[in-house]
Amino acid sequence: MTDISNDIVQQLDRQHVFHSWSTQGSLSPMVIAGGKGCRLWDYAGKEYLDFSSQLVNTNIGHQHSKVIAAIQAQAEQLTTVAPAHANLARGEAAKRILARAPAGFGKVFFTNAGADANENAMRMARAVTGRDKILSAYRSYHGNTGAAIVATGDPRRVPNEFARGHAHFFNPFLYRSDFWAGNEEEECQRALQHLKRVIECEGPSAIAAILLESIPGTAGVLIPPKGYMEGVRKLADQHGILVIFDEVMAGFGRTGKWFALEHFAAKPDLIVFAKGVNSGYVPAGGVIISDEICRYFDDHMFFGGLTYSGHPLAMASIVATLDAMSEEGVVENADRVGNGPLATGLQQLAQQHAVVGETRGLGVFHALELVSDRATRAPLPAAEMGKIKSALIAKGLLPFVVENRIHVVPPCIVSEAEVAEGLAILDTVLGEASARLA
Ligand code: PLP
Repeated sequence: MTDISNDIVQQLDRQHVFHSWSTQGSLSPMVIAGGKGCRLWDYAGKEYLDFSSQLVNTNIGHQHSKVIAAIQAQAEQLTTVAPAHANLARGEAAKRILARAPAGFGKVFFTNAGADANENAMRMARAVTGRDKILSAYRSYHGNTGAAIVATGDPRRVPNEFARGHAHFFNPFLYRSDFWAGNEEEECQRALQHLKRVIECEGPSAIAAILLESIPGTAGVLIPPKGYMEGVRKLADQHGILVIFDEVMAGFGRTGKWFALEHFAAKPDLIVFAKGVNSGYVPAGGVIISDEICRYFDDHMFFGGLTYSGHPLAMASIVATLDAMSEEGVVENADRVGNGPLATGLQQLAQQHAVVGETRGLGVFHALELVSDRATRAPLPAAEMGKIKSALIAKGLLPFVVENRIHVVPPCIVSEAEVAEGLAILDTVLGEASARLA
């Protein structure tokens, strides 16, 4: 296989592969040949420090040997099995997920990824309440399937024939407040008052669920102000509305806790997960179901299913991932390194470089908000973001760039040395960008 080159792989891709969220004609995708831990490399031997965790999913890093061995062992034993059968790996995976979830959750429904997990959570909420509407936030992403993409708040929210009864509200984000708020407390109170009005206007008895990312990720790593999630829960309870927390990006260690919801006192009725549960080694997602909703479905039919629900290879990878994360203190590492040197280093970058308007985050889940003017907070234009992205990649740092932001989201296993290396590259590139602004 030594005659494989970056050019050959890229040509093959450009001839035959149709890419997500892209105009196809002008693409030039980066070639990745292999990886280990927080590093990736191409066929020319150029290495990259992965500060994207791909799509914020490789929480345990690339090519974890125990997870690979578990997938291989499961493949030897039973590669696939229908969801109706009982299977050891599936039961063990569900048991381990529930052991890490808050008290009061009884069962797991497995899906293939995050979007279909949201679809099924919404379907469960509609079935249990007998109501139709789903409220979700404008600053959100919930996946690219019928209802999940319409529940999504960002402009990718394309109307389609599979989604009905969706309404949106503004979630809190003080730096770009939609509520003219001057501090976190005002932002929280006004966002809750706004949600209260949306519920009243949509008709409380028509609303099945409020669907919220525990910490909106793609929208910019927006940590909810103190009291907001608890306020949402209270509003929902006043009207018999269920609450769904989408933990697809924020869950399984990303924020320095198993679930991001542990940062709040509010508990949802359904928890949606994917990505970090097995770091995406095999596609998997699911819904963690409260005891009460489990009881409802004891004698009510659930109208939903997938051929690969609880696929053995995915389940074996979940078991091995969660065991390895516990044994190796991966969540603790995300907390220690992420809330320590990474957070401190990003704060320093924000102080030093005029192009950084704000840094925010928890664990290994941060965003640098880049602006062309700190006073007006005008987002840095796309062309300038493109230059920054190219410069970071040229220097060997793989970033996760969304709109005018760099999301700093390394694997949860990132070491202090790797953080120092990544921060040094960011420092150089942000320094160059700030100089261009001056
Ligand atoms: N929910 C959240 C919060 C996400 O970040 C994503 C993907 O980024 C999804 C759902 C959709 O997950 P998937 O792409 O696995 O369908």
